[in-house]
Amino acid sequence: MTGSTCLLDQRPTGDGGHLCRGCTDRLRRDLDAVPDIVSELLVTVSRQDHVQPVRAGRSTATPLVYNPDASDELTDLAYLLGSWSRCMADDLGMKLEVPDTPDTPAAHAAWLALRLRVIRHHPAVDDLAGEIGHAVARGRRAVDVHDVASRFLVGPCPQLTDGWFCDGDVQATITTTRDEPPTMACLRCHHTWRAEQWLRAGKLIANRRDEIGWRPPARTRAGADT
Ligand SMILES: [Zn+2]
Ligand SMILES: [Zn+2]
Repeated sequence: MTGSTCLLDQRPTGDGGHLCRGCTDRLRRDLDAVPDIVSELLVTVSRQDHVQPVRAGRSTATPLVYNPDASDELTDLAYLLGSWSRCMADDLGMKLEVPDTPDTPAAHAAWLALRLRVIRHHPAVDDLAGEIGHAVARGRRAVDVHDVASRFLVGPCPQLTDGWFCDGDVQATITTTRDEPPTMACLRCHHTWRAEQWLRAGKLIANRRDEIGWRPPARTRAGADT
């Protein structure tokens, strides 16, 4: 068998295929991530009324806070995955049996993922991998960004390692979703505190803050997202 090189990064593919092992794995991870991203996007779209903190006491006539990104990303993802799986099925003479439901993008992704061994031999597989990679990244961003209501630096990390304080800063993240609790985590050592641990951790952080005269960097003082 003649050895080819990967159309994306020119690494040897080890056979006549057009994607190397690393790029095939990345594509598989992107496809595997689709069901979660789709359900997150669906949730984001369906709870448009509290994607952002809603002012209390307003009548039902208050316009819904709409997140056009989430619904756009969902449409794009569905279109892209549907087009690619239909194209691959046609070109490679395979049968495409994917139902037309709101979960269709996930079904198309699963169909493609199951056939990667064949699909990596298709001459346009680099376009497929690139476009799906971008769409998945955009979907992730649409979900992440809009679920974060607020993110701010709390103070210096109170974690001790071998008698030394960690020199990272602790960041609190408040989400807009009811099922995701707020978190507090060190940006350096990644120690995470659950909401019920905040009181105790807060006291330790406040002590450290006084001890070293900690001030939040000017950039984050305004509450900007990273
Ligand atoms: Zn590659
Ligand atoms: Zn730390």
